[in-house]
Amino acid sequence: MQPIQTVCFDTKPYDLPGLTRYAEVCGISFRFLEAKLNAQTAALAEECGAQAVCIFVNDVADAAAIDRLTAGGVKLLALRCAGTNNVDLAHAEGKIGIIRVPGYSPHAVAEHAMAMLLSAARHLHKAYARTRDFNFSIRGLTGMELYEKTVGVVGTGRIGSVFASLCKGFGMRVLAYDKFPDPASDLDYVALDDLLRESDVVSLHCPLTEDTRHLIDRDRIAEMKDGVILLNTSRGGLVDTSALIDGIKSHKIGAACMDVYEEEADVFFEDRSEDILQDDRLARLLTLPNVLVTSHQAFLTREALDTIARETCYGIRRYFDPTA
Ligand code: NAD
Repeated sequence: MQPIQTVCFDTKPYDLPGLTRYAEVCGISFRFLEAKLNAQTAALAEECGAQAVCIFVNDVADAAAIDRLTAGGVKLLALRCAGTNNVDLAHAEGKIGIIRVPGYSPHAVAEHAMAMLLSAARHLHKAYARTRDFNFSIRGLTGMELYEKTVGVVGTGRIGSVFASLCKGFGMRVLAYDKFPDPASDLDYVALDDLLRESDVVSLHCPLTEDTRHLIDRDRIAEMKDGVILLNTSRGGLVDTSALIDGIKSHKIGAACMDVYEEEADVFFEDRSEDILQDDRLARLLTLPNVLVTSHQAFLTREALDTIARETCYGIRRYFDPTA
């Protein structure tokens, strides 16, 4: 079999070792591009003679991009991520194959959520900055113990259920909400309103769909406990950013930990330190002492990168050669 010509969009240095290693085993010839996929850049796939295109979370496979890819002969869209919110799945149906890596490492994301929670609860981000500046005062760094606090886990799939176990390990009471509760789970499922009312910490682990866009809006924030810690390691669009900022300014929200952000597409994953940040809401969030932002890095562990590369390459291979 000839090598499967595959164009990889939005390639970052950390993608290369794994993809290159498994490409060799799976008979894939990658062309690595830094450009993100969109309706304009989709033409690059045809120029490279691609049979498959490999994309990440901020590439946009909308109807126009999909039409351009298929017109250029692309048969497969391989997502090297779990979520599919950046792909027009309905439009893709019957036109182009879609594969993704659904469960590459729930522990990577769940552990990052816990790391953010611990940092916020014990002000580690502030302590780090202080001691680096030879400021050894601990004034204002009084923390909150997790033990016996209530955490609300929204979405109890692969990542949410691992996060719930980590919280139980800390002696927390775990409440869960899921649109499709797992009947085999021993989690304590409650209505979303009850979860929000009772939780000291709320952590989001459901996918971004039309149903969940701005799941956390002004009304839901009003329902939460005063001083709640909100964690979002899922997708930025789950939270209405303006409502979040108002919730923090009014002290309703005690801390917000965000690995994802509604308008992250042109900012996250890039070094913008030389630029004037154009996004005023992100700039405002970054001025707040009780907000922790990481740049969509919850997935970024050695173990997860290896699984992503392996599953992506074997998935591409199996698509073109089902007997492999
Ligand atoms: P999963 O499919 O295993 O679990 C998602 C859960 O959400 C399911 O139990 C589902 O029933 C539930 N759900 C669906 N609609 C819901 C709704 N309207 N309200 C409440 N719950 C709902 O997915 P997962 O692997 O656990 O991943 C969860 C999310 O984490 C993904 O959708 C992705 O967006 C995000 N993610 C982020 C990173 C990162 O680096 N920050 C990495 C991987 C995944």
